[in-house]
Amino acid sequence: MDINELLKKENLKRHEIIYLLGLSDEKEINLLFDRADEVRRIYCGDEVHLRGIINFSNYCEQDCLYCGLRKSNKNITRYRMSPDEVVEVAHKFINKGIFTIVLQSGEDSFYDTDKIAYIIYSIKQKADVAITLSLGERDFEEYKTWKIAGADRYLIKHETANPKLYAALHENQKLTERLEHIRFLKEIGYQVGSGNMIGLPNQTLEDIADDILLCKEYELDMAAFGPFIPAPGTPWQNKKPGDVLLTLKTMAVARILLKDVHIPATTALATLDENGRIKGLKVGANVIMPDFTPSPYRENYQIYANRKCVKDNPDDCRSCLQLQIESIGRKVSNSRGDSLKLFNQAN
Ligand code: SF4
Repeated sequence: MDINELLKKENLKRHEIIYLLGLSDEKEINLLFDRADEVRRIYCGDEVHLRGIINFSNYCEQDCLYCGLRKSNKNITRYRMSPDEVVEVAHKFINKGIFTIVLQSGEDSFYDTDKIAYIIYSIKQKADVAITLSLGERDFEEYKTWKIAGADRYLIKHETANPKLYAALHENQKLTERLEHIRFLKEIGYQVGSGNMIGLPNQTLEDIADDILLCKEYELDMAAFGPFIPAPGTPWQNKKPGDVLLTLKTMAVARILLKDVHIPATTALATLDENGRIKGLKVGANVIMPDFTPSPYRENYQIYANRKCVKDNPDDCRSCLQLQIESIGRKVSNSRGDSLKLFNQAN
């Protein structure tokens, strides 16, 4: 295949995506990365959106094989932040120039419909920020209530588009159900983010191509492609982590195909590679999601080992990231960074 011709195509077929993911020639890989960077510039501009995450509970009722928060992992210290504590942390970072707050936890029904609605409403009362929920699979009625309370976005990873692999990863959940949640969330007006892990045991390039195609089919507003990192205390603790280069190639192909979707340079990528965030920003990413969970909680959100920046003071994150972003000629966005799809459709 002629790589230059391929990279100019508006749409990529499955076998072409697989071909690009399998590139091994350095020059060709650089052409892929440069094209992804160009597409990012055309569709998203040079701004990088910072989405501040508050991991407010590390309790989880699920038992996903790969995840350190799984309920059978007895090796982590569990915590829950109070709703008022979450609101206070959110406002602190909003005052530091953060325009999206991501409320994230394991699947923890301790935070019922009203508690989450209270948090959303209280944050929105004082500030015009976007609120993303990342709470796993919840009741459809809850999604509706939280939307009314002011939630804007929902992040729910599909993890893998291969139903067999999905079933192997999740004891009680099915891929079809997860996709129903994604569909429903879109239907009721959430901006929806999803994505998958790269380098899962037994995962193939075909699977990853299907992951990217799934993100296109569901017209996602954000798509995250992060490397798998084994978590201590899980059945997969001794598995090999995902490959950084394959993750970067996946992000680049996704940018070329998905065009105006938001793509984060993930913390998992930065955990495996010291320069992972910058590398990610150069191959199509336009979002970074720093962790603003305060101590002593942040150390215990152990979804995988040695999470990047976990020992740093979150108060320093914004200026640290700004320096990194500006070092490559990009700038931190001063807007909420809503769905580019919605924006492009409206214009
Ligand atoms: S991946 Fe999510 S649902 Fe699964 S165990 Fe971890 S926190 Fe719970």
